Amino acid sequence: RSLVTAAADGEDRAVEAALRPRDLDEFIGQERVREQLSLVLQAAKRRAATPDHVLLSGPPGLGKTTLSMIIAAEMGAPIRITSGPAIQHAGDLAAILSSLTEGEVLFLDEIHRMSRPAEEMLYMAMEDFRVDVVVGKGPGATAIPLELPPFTLVGATTRAGLLPPPLRDRFGFTGHMEFYAPSELERVIHRSARLLDVDIDAAGAAEIAGRSRGTPRIANRLLRRVRDYAQVRHDGEVTRDIAAAALDVYEVDARGLDRLDRAVLHALLKLFGGGPVGLSTLAVAVGEESETVEEVAEPFLVREGLLARTPRGRIATAAAWQHLGLTPPPQSPV
Ligand code: ADP
Repeated sequence: RSLVTAAADGEDRAVEAALRPRDLDEFIGQERVREQLSLVLQAAKRRAATPDHVLLSGPPGLGKTTLSMIIAAEMGAPIRITSGPAIQHAGDLAAILSSLTEGEVLFLDEIHRMSRPAEEMLYMAMEDFRVDVVVGKGPGATAIPLELPPFTLVGATTRAGLLPPPLRDRFGFTGHMEFYAPSELERVIHRSARLLDVDIDAAGAAEIAGRSRGTPRIANRLLRRVRDYAQVRHDGEVTRDIAAAALDVYEVDARGLDRLDRAVLHALLKLFGGGPVGLSTLAVAVGEESETVEEVAEPFLVREGLLARTPRGRIATAAAWQHLGLTPPPQSPV
């Protein structure tokens, strides 16, 4: 598992609670979502009503869970946190829904991975604050309608397009989370450093930000590894040189590429002259499964404009040659 994976690991979960912004003002970046959400919440407060259901879409580690907690905090409401994969049966969802209190926020992470029957129960719950609980089996089964108190569902998904339209339509507001700009990540890093009592200068924060793939969770994780290095090998202060040296130890390069990303690029450039080369050939060259190369390494390389997928195969861009410090062959098509 790489240091620049966006999904949370055990250590992230243990320390993230301490690093989460508590209100919208403290939440860095995502200006558009923040402004839209702020209006939704203020309007609800003014009407003394429960806010509309909110859908947050975007890659892992950008602050969806954090925003759901902020929604609850701003409304002075309790929050219940669960996820699509945790809801196997409609009954699991009925149990959660029927125990909600008035105004409570229900955060449903990975909402696109809920089972179909649960999803259908959710439609009615979102729209009419009602569920039908089925009691018994076979011909004797009866549906008992159950009133629910008004609540706010906050759903999170990696892509809003993954949701069936009837579910998507039941959200009053959808916030699209974007990757963070380096300057925003620098602010995230300075803020976390303050909370973790780490002494860091501006250049040190910029160095970590540049390697964090636009993702606050990764920025916080890299900061912790840099802190270890600074404390063990130096006096604890984080400068640009120390941040760079620490992350070189962990094989996260200046642009946030890890060992596998670099191996893929290196093979593409050195063995195949920059391509085009087929995915499976490229995967064999780096000793990995095709799926690993395609799903783990390629998305970020494509996002960074270092690799392109074409009908004839994978090709490297001029930026890829530059990044690895290599000269493209003169007849190179790119
Ligand atoms: P997601 O639910 O999208 O996977 P999280 O809300 O769990 O992401 O955020 C991951 C970590 O990144 C948390 O520790 C959180 O403190 C931090 N984080 C996310 N967004 C921000 C932000 N805008 N400002 C400061 N920290 C943030």
